[in-house]
Amino acid sequence: MIQEIAPHKFRNEYRPVPPKSQDFMLIYEGRKVLVRKDSAEIVFPTFQDLEQCNPSETLYQKYTYLFEIDEIHFYRGESRSLNLPEEYEWADVQLFRTGSPKYLAFAAVTGWQMNRWYETHQFCGRCGKPMVHDSKERMMRCTECGLMEFPKICPAVIVGLTHGNKILMTKYARGEHKRYALVAGYAETGETIEEAVAREVMEEVGLKVKNLRYYKSQPWSYSDSLLFGFFCELDGDDETVTLDQNELAVAEWFEREEMPVEANDISLTNEMMMAFKNGLV
Ligand SMILES: [Zn+2]
Repeated sequence: MIQEIAPHKFRNEYRPVPPKSQDFMLIYEGRKVLVRKDSAEIVFPTFQDLEQCNPSETLYQKYTYLFEIDEIHFYRGESRSLNLPEEYEWADVQLFRTGSPKYLAFAAVTGWQMNRWYETHQFCGRCGKPMVHDSKERMMRCTECGLMEFPKICPAVIVGLTHGNKILMTKYARGEHKRYALVAGYAETGETIEEAVAREVMEEVGLKVKNLRYYKSQPWSYSDSLLFGFFCELDGDDETVTLDQNELAVAEWFEREEMPVEANDISLTNEMMMAFKNGLV
C-alpha cells in the first residue's frame, strides 16, 4: 500500500525545528508539486537549492514544518512568496500513486493533504479573523475568538462483502476510477465505524451484512480520509443487488478465482481484493 515505505520511517509528530540546508521543501500549486526536471526518480528542492534564487530572510522565515522521514525534515513552502529554481517543474500529485522512490511519493501525497488544510484554514470559520500556527501542536488558532482547528481527516469504510466463495465488486458511477472496487463510503456523524459498514452496504447495494471483521486501515490523502477495511458476510442467501445508481455503475458477485483484479501495491481496496482472491481471508 502507498503508506508502506519500510525500511524508511515516517514520523509526523509536530516538531517545528528550523530547517537545515539538506531538508526538503514541498511546494504546491493546486494539484501540482515541484520536482526536479528530467529525473527518473522523485527529487524535491532542498533549502540549499532554493537559497540560490531566494534571499534567506524569505526562505528561512516563510515555511511550515510538515514531518520527518528518516533524518530528513520536510517543510511546506508557498510558491507565491518564493522564486522557483529553473531545474524544477510542476508534477501532478496523481503521478505519485506510483512514483519512485516510494517514500518520497508518499511524502508528496501526504504533504499535499496538509498543504490543502493549511490553505483553507488561514481565516477563522467562525469570526473571519486570521488564524495563526500553534507552537506545540499541528493546529491553527484564531487570534480573535480562540477557535482551534485540527487537520481534517475523514473516516471512511472499504467493505469486502462475501457470500461463501464469492465477493461483491463494484464500479463507481462517477469520477476517473473505472476499475472494479469494493463498496465504500464515509462515516456519518453519530455512528460507529461498524454501523457505517452496514449502512453503506444497505445504501449502495440493498443488502444486509453480518460477522464484520476488521482487516486494516490506510491513510488516503487524495480524499483527506482514513480508510477502515472490513470484511463481512451477506446476511441470508438472497444475493439480489438493488443498485444505488447515483453512487455505483455496477455491482457484481465474483467467484474468488474469477475476480478481475491484479495486485498494485497502492490501495487498501486492491490489497483486500487480492487477499480474497488468493484465499488469505
Ligand atoms: Zn475566530
